[in-house]
Amino acid sequence: MTMNNKKNNSSATQITRAYIILLTTLMIIVSFATIFVVGLHLVHNKRDDAEQLTTVLKTSFSDYKPDWDYWRDTASINPHNTFVRVTVVPDSGKVRHFYSHRTRKFLRDDFENRPLLKNIQIQTDQGIFYHVKTSERWKHSRVTYEIWLSLNNVVELFKLIIVVVISVMAFGLLIGISAISVLARKLNAPLERLTTATQKINDADTSTHHETLPVPAGPQEVTDLSIEFNRLLTSLNNQVLRDHQFVSDASHELRTPLAAIRGHINLIRRHGNTHPEIVQPSLSTIDTESIRMQHLIDSLLQLSRMDHAELEKQRVLLNDIVQRVADNYHEQLNRELVVNAPHPVHAMVHAESITQMLVALIDNANKYAPGDTPITINLFADSHAVIEVADLGPGISDGAKAHIFDRFYRADTSRSHKIDGSGLGLAIVARLADLNGGAVHVRDNQPQGSVFSLILPIIK
Ligand code: ADP
Repeated sequence: MTMNNKKNNSSATQITRAYIILLTTLMIIVSFATIFVVGLHLVHNKRDDAEQLTTVLKTSFSDYKPDWDYWRDTASINPHNTFVRVTVVPDSGKVRHFYSHRTRKFLRDDFENRPLLKNIQIQTDQGIFYHVKTSERWKHSRVTYEIWLSLNNVVELFKLIIVVVISVMAFGLLIGISAISVLARKLNAPLERLTTATQKINDADTSTHHETLPVPAGPQEVTDLSIEFNRLLTSLNNQVLRDHQFVSDASHELRTPLAAIRGHINLIRRHGNTHPEIVQPSLSTIDTESIRMQHLIDSLLQLSRMDHAELEKQRVLLNDIVQRVADNYHEQLNRELVVNAPHPVHAMVHAESITQMLVALIDNANKYAPGDTPITINLFADSHAVIEVADLGPGISDGAKAHIFDRFYRADTSRSHKIDGSGLGLAIVARLADLNGGAVHVRDNQPQGSVFSLILPIIK
């Protein structure tokens, strides 16, 4: 879109244009209405005047002719713009015409009738006239009275009204346009500032962090828009930061086993021939580290796939899953595994992922709690379906509780005790719980240890 198009499309231009159209239409309607009403009123006045003049004329008619002096004095008319002709047609005898002062000269000019306004006549060189014609029988004759009243002053008044209306309209438009464009620009200014700020952010070309936009005090819509926009930017910023952190954590975690593998390969290369006894232990370390890497990569892949995943849920009897997992892992654990599932609990979930979460939680309990302590699985229903995995291990500090579901987080104690792990297990559990429409929480166990609760959507 060109700059010109943008300007023509701006709301300031549109508001101004709409205002001009509205105001012009309104003024044209008002002008026509005023002219029509005033005109009608004036023509009515003329008709009344003409009727009154005719009455006086009839009264003044005596001795077979009108008494012009009497008529002029009684009717108080202006002889310069009022003309009268009286025609007497006797039943027998000659037709006679009587003309008021200057009427003969007035009638010498041509006139034309306006077909639409039957009483209006235009007299060449003399202007517009209102013409009335009445006739009556008088003694043995038919008398016709004709009066022409000048409408020139009415026309002048019309002209004046039109000039005044157009001037008022032009003045109103001028004032209105400048006022409305100032207002429109004022309303638009915060939006324009917002656009400039957004352009600046785009031009800055930083993929890691985006500035937030300035929030204007008004109008309310723009304030709301910038607040919502900032929320979006903040969430994008956080996502970008999380992604960066994730990539750097993943590289870091992969670097450790890779360094060990490379170290052992170099060792074998340099001393393998002279000290063949080091080859076997080195190979087994390489094997262990490569398995760790494999696990890590599998977990990373799973997490990345789950970002856009959707699980197919179905009605599942959770007691079955809990029992199957307990049966499968009982042997391997080499410790007591207690299952409390007194009542059947149905849930709307993805069965395989429930198994995966349960295995991850039991695996952690097994890793972190001393070997002679039992692990307990509780299954019950309240407003949700709940599966708990409780251990009597070292427990998790309040500070660590806030982070254990973050990717790559490992409490310091786990690292210092060299307990194997990647810090991705609970992140996967949290994501799977979320995909199942549930959640996972942790709390302290009594007298010690931790309880992990899987909260799932129940079917009652
Ligand atoms: P990993 O076990 O591979 O380190 P997880 O994501 O499974 O990663 O767990 C994150 C951290 O949470 C662990 O490093 C550990 O410090 C802590 N943790 C998890 N489960 C338990 C538990 N049952 N008892 C004590 N600490 C735990």
